[in-house]
Order: sequence, then structure tokens, then C-alpha cells
Amino acid sequence: MIVQSTEIPRRYQAVTRENIKKLAVWSRLSPELQEAVMVVSAVLPFRTNTYVIDELIDWDRVPDDPMYQLTFPQRGMLTARQYDRMAGLVLGGAPREETQRAANEIRFQLSPHPAGQLTHNRPYLDGERLDGVQHKYRETVLFFPSQGQTCHAYCTFCFRWAQFVGISDLRFASREVDKLIRYLKQHPEVSDVLFTGGDPMVMKARTLAAYIEPLLTPELEHIRNIRIGTKAVAYWPHRFVSDPDSDEVLRLFDKIVASGRHLAVMGHYNHPVELSSPIAREAIRRIRATGANIRMQSPVVRHVNDDADAWAELWRTGVQLGMIPYYMFVERDTGARHYFELPLVRVWEIYREAYNQVSGLARNVRGPSMSAFQGKVRILGVTEIGADPVFILEFLQARQPELVRIPFFARYDPEATWFDQLQPYRESDRPFFEERPKQVLDALVELTA
Ligand SMILES: *Cc1c(COP(=O)(O)O)cnc(C)c1O
Ligand code: SF4
Repeated sequence: MIVQSTEIPRRYQAVTRENIKKLAVWSRLSPELQEAVMVVSAVLPFRTNTYVIDELIDWDRVPDDPMYQLTFPQRGMLTARQYDRMAGLVLGGAPREETQRAANEIRFQLSPHPAGQLTHNRPYLDGERLDGVQHKYRETVLFFPSQGQTCHAYCTFCFRWAQFVGISDLRFASREVDKLIRYLKQHPEVSDVLFTGGDPMVMKARTLAAYIEPLLTPELEHIRNIRIGTKAVAYWPHRFVSDPDSDEVLRLFDKIVASGRHLAVMGHYNHPVELSSPIAREAIRRIRATGANIRMQSPVVRHVNDDADAWAELWRTGVQLGMIPYYMFVERDTGARHYFELPLVRVWEIYREAYNQVSGLARNVRGPSMSAFQGKVRILGVTEIGADPVFILEFLQARQPELVRIPFFARYDPEATWFDQLQPYRESDRPFFEERPKQVLDALVELTA
């Protein structure tokens, strides 16, 4: 049963390892589930909130409930060896430093920095590396404001999890919008700036405005689109409705639209239940009333949304509420991937089965797409060449733009879960799989900076 409170919670209340035991729901968890929460959250980040707990999780379906799987640590997220080791320390009351050391060892086994995020996509400004900015695809620059590097709740599968446990270096984030602006002035090919995190919507309206308003200058007319990547629409829709500065947020959105730019809210929605509460719908209504569009994107995640009917329902309801289905991603190669990943062929089947159930208004959704080192690789399908089964793939975005949208082939592998496990089918498919050596790439970036 989902307890729908009649009253809107007025204040955001975070639930973490430190205070979870004080909540009424704690006693609804079996001793095994309680143990898993305490043990796994010693290694991987855990944070949820009272809205998710009261309105989105169906406690009669725990532990299988998708929103429980999405926000609560699960035993299977660690291997049996890792789990036993941590359980011994956590339950045995080992000294803090010892637990911390073991946790860090396990974290570094979990591939904390996927797809060359830290090393390969940071651009240069006047010969210096620019912090808090990623520029991988020509038209779109990602900006990581330093105050926006957390979220209203953490997804258990999060690909940015390393920064929440403090092992990713936060030079990734920036306070300096003037450097971003200088960079953008030197790059007329950029049309989109995407504010991301974490979740930029954890910031106060005033802070967010301090980052965005300087971009609205006529000198940056080539910036046509401002995007904000956020999960607040699902985890804390009150951000747009009833927080003390919600109206200020919406006035900022008005201002972006009035500057002649398109404001694209890139809403991270994983499951249709996130659209079920009245406040989630009110948030959508209020955001859209500013002239902004909301696009929906999410990975396919085992235990959470590996279900074509759930996706079809998400897209159908999303479109009905005026949103635009945008990307379906493949779960990334980091963190507890062994628990959340699915064979690529299965992800493609889920995409097809969901796509087949919705009208054309939802069929512009692109996917399933892997954000690999080489680019965004879309799985177009499985077919045969002669007697050989193959995957048909294409780049939707690529480090080498000349490769975009050219179909290419990989040997079919029913178990493969990520691009780096696939093999080129023909010799002519090889260039699509190549990772250029880091030095070459860095030299290239330096030349073009
Ligand atoms: C996905 C992504 C973008 C945005 O790509 P679109 O196809 O324009 O939505 C930009 N930069 C990086 C690094 C990305 O992974
Ligand atoms: S909202 Fe995004 S950044 Fe935040 S925890 Fe979820 S996946 Fe990670």
C-alpha cells in the first residue's frame, strides 16, 4: 500500500544511514533487509527522503517494489565476498578507520570513473584545463555547478556514485561561470549548455540564477538551448511547487524563455509510479507553464524497470502530461553493475515491446543507447548476415562526428551487457570500436582548444 498523505510535506527531509532507524518504516523491514541497508550503505551511497518513502514506495511489495530497489541498498549490490567482509566489520563494531579502508578498497573495484569522464572530456581555456566543464560532443557543453553535486535522493544504480562517497575528485565541479562564458565565446559551434550534477535543482533559486543568467547575454546568441538535467521532478517535485523559493525558480525559467532560448528540463524518470502523485503532476504543469519543455530519460535497470509495460506506461502518461520521451539508456558500466545490468539483447527487446504499445507521439524516443567512451551507441537490432547473427549498431553522438548514424555491425553475443564486450563483425567495422590512445586525444584537444 502506498500511503498518500493528504497534506503536502512542507519541508524536505533527507533519510540516510544516520537517521533511518528512527523512521516508522524501519520496523517494516525484515532483519535481513535491515542488515543489508546498514552493510551496503557503508560502501555505496544511500540517501532517500520522506516523500519517496511515504508516497512512492509501496511497502507491501518491499523488497521487490521498484522504488525501494531504486533508492534502498540491496544485499546483491555487493558480491558475497564483499558483503561478508563488510558485514563482519559493520556488525562487529570494527573501528571506523578499518571499516572505511575496507569500503574504499571495494569502491575501487567498482570502476568509479566510467567512460573516461575525468580524463578525456575536460576542455581547455587559454591553455588551462577547465574545471567543472565537459565538452565531448560538438554542440553541447556540460556544466557541473559545484553546489549542485548532490541529489534529493540517490539512485542505487547511479553512475556518478563515486562523488557521493567522496572518492571522485570534485574538481569536476566549478563555481566559476565567467570561465564558462569565456569558453563559450570562443566556441560558436556550441548551441546547448546542459547544467548537470548530481542535480542542479538542489541549489537555491538564487544560486541557480547566478549560474544561468550570465548566459542569457546577447553576446552568447549562439547558445540557443539551456538544458537542466534533474531528478527533482521525480524525487522532490515540491521543488517546483511548494518550496520557499519555488516561485523564484519558475521566474528564472520565465526569464530564460523570454531571452529567446529554449529551456529543456531533462527529467530523469525511471518508473511510471513517479508520475502518479498529484504533486508530481503539479510540478510538470507549473514547469510547462513557463514555456519550458520537459524531456524524459532513464536507463533500463534490472529490478527497477526491466519491464516493457512499465516503460510504455511511463511514456504514455508522460506524453499525456505534455512531456517528450527522449532517451532510453543502457545501464552504465560502473558501481554495482552486476546487480543492475541486463544483456543488451534484452534491453533492445524491452525497447521494442514498449515502443510497440505507444502512439507516434512517444515514438521519437531514442534508444537503447550506451554512453560509451567512443560515443552514444544505439542498438538498432539483431539480424543475420549469411548464417552469422549480428548486432546492428549506430552512433547517435560520437567523439568522431563523421561516424554518426552509419550503421555498423558487431558479432552477436547474447550475454554482452556493454559496448566494450562486443567485437567488430567485419574489418570495416573496426574503426567504430577504436578508442584512440589517450595521448593522441589529449594532443587533439590541445590543438583545437
Ligand atoms: C548525452 C550527452 C550529451 C547530450 O547529448 P544529446 O544527444 O544532445 O542529448 C552531451 N554530452 C555528453 C558527454 C553526453 O553524454
Ligand atoms: S539523480 Fe542522477 S546523479 Fe542523482 S543519484 Fe540518481 S542517477 Fe545519480
